[in-house]
Amino acid sequence: MNDEPVIEFRQVGLTYPGPPPVPALKPCDLTVGRGEFVTVVGPSGSGKSTFLNIVGLLDSPTSGNYLLDGLDTSALRDAERTALRGRRIGFVFQSFHLLPHRSALENVALALVYNGTPRGRRRADALEALERVGLGHRAASVPTRLSGGERQRVAIARALVARPSLLLCDEPTGNLDTVNARSVLALLEELHTDGMTVLVITHDPGVAELGARTVAIRDGVLREQIAAGKGEKR
Ligand code: ADP
Repeated sequence: MNDEPVIEFRQVGLTYPGPPPVPALKPCDLTVGRGEFVTVVGPSGSGKSTFLNIVGLLDSPTSGNYLLDGLDTSALRDAERTALRGRRIGFVFQSFHLLPHRSALENVALALVYNGTPRGRRRADALEALERVGLGHRAASVPTRLSGGERQRVAIARALVARPSLLLCDEPTGNLDTVNARSVLALLEELHTDGMTVLVITHDPGVAELGARTVAIRDGVLREQIAAGKGEKR
């Protein structure tokens, strides 16, 4: 464990070239420390996906420097960015993205194929991750036999299994009913309590409230949101 912030934006911005050029994320500073739970909220078209793509190393900013775990990502070549992404970031998507004909265990274990985990350890690690999300007993089930909330928990296990620095969640409850959404959010809070750094991007103010800290994006401008009654920053 190092003491570097997990995310550090130094005047990071992204303008799509156009024409006309679209300044989707205006240059901004942001620091997310290890173990923080940050929600990022904004209406459709505000720049959330642009922000997510930069944080997730899926896209490069057109200005500024993005440091992940203290490592400046600006100068990395594509292969290095991909490797860093695989090791440091666990993605959770709105629509789960599980392979329908593979068991929960296989779905999670597959995330270890590309990071060099020996074959013999993958299943044990995957089972441990499934147990962590409360689904050890469903390891053999295929996603179609699981509820939406369970599928998202499998996806979270897959995101966690390689022990990333950051859990990056894009509308993680967008496809869930209220009960399942609540259980997934409770799990994210639990992981945060255990020390995981969690960043949740959402257009839902109800979900945004859960973060110990909320950042708002509007028209490409990122701002810290200070809400009354929020807990101390961790
Ligand atoms: P959100 O995820 O909050 O809906 P986006 O980050 O997708 O917002 O979009 C922010 C702005 O950037 C919008 O005005 C959108 O039209 C524009 N935009 C997104 N992607 C591109 C692109 N590839 N080229 C040009 N403009 C884009």
